[in-house]
Amino acid sequence: MTYKLLLASVLFTGSTTIINAQQPAMKHEDTEFYEPVPKVVTPGKSYGDAPSDAVILFDGNNLSQWVTANDTSQPAQWVVKDNVLTVNKKAGNIQTRQSFLDYQLHIEWRIPKTITGTSQARGNSGVFLASLGKGDAGYELQVMDSYNNPTYVNGQAGSVYKQSPPLANPNRPPGEWQTYDIAWTAPRFNENGSVKSPARVTIFFNGVLVQNGFELKGPTRYVGNPVYDTPHGASRIKLQSHGDPSEPISFRNIWIRPL
Ligand code: MG
Repeated sequence: MTYKLLLASVLFTGSTTIINAQQPAMKHEDTEFYEPVPKVVTPGKSYGDAPSDAVILFDGNNLSQWVTANDTSQPAQWVVKDNVLTVNKKAGNIQTRQSFLDYQLHIEWRIPKTITGTSQARGNSGVFLASLGKGDAGYELQVMDSYNNPTYVNGQAGSVYKQSPPLANPNRPPGEWQTYDIAWTAPRFNENGSVKSPARVTIFFNGVLVQNGFELKGPTRYVGNPVYDTPHGASRIKLQSHGDPSEPISFRNIWIRPL
């Protein structure tokens, strides 16, 4: 399609949605790639204590800041024990009670030392940087065991799932706590629903830069190419209860600074 023709059809339809709807049928493999493999880096030892102006989302005591993703009138049903939050796979995803636009987020996670499985079925979870409601709708930062566990690189830990592989692989071995420090800029939309500015994210994984101002192409899609088809404002943050059969993973020390 020529530029003029494309422009004309965008003007005519008022958005690019119809053009994108013309994608040929795709398989999930079509958006998974395996090279280049991010280099392995051994991270330093540091933790991120909450600064004075942070909103505490989980400090080890309770899940008062979280609700069930598929029914936000219900409290979150994951397990809090010994100051640690563990996924309850029967309860599904959980998300924050509050919504956020642009923010700095700190979250720590741990793959069980006894984890089993391979590729995506090994400690899979996720942080949806902006939830778009039920299920896995939203923008997923992948969480899983990527310590000596190859998978498609744009699906390993530290990836913006199926959009951007991490710039390095600083995974710690299963059983050790790991950190994400995230700067999220939410997408902005025009009144007609078209994108004014895409979402942008910078992520430090165990203190190592793995996403550097990456501009997202849209909410995460398991099949097909991402596209901004759901205009939204401030959103909840969601944690994933993934359906793979491996042992559930844990979280701790979750705090946020709205910007
Ligand atoms: Mg996941």
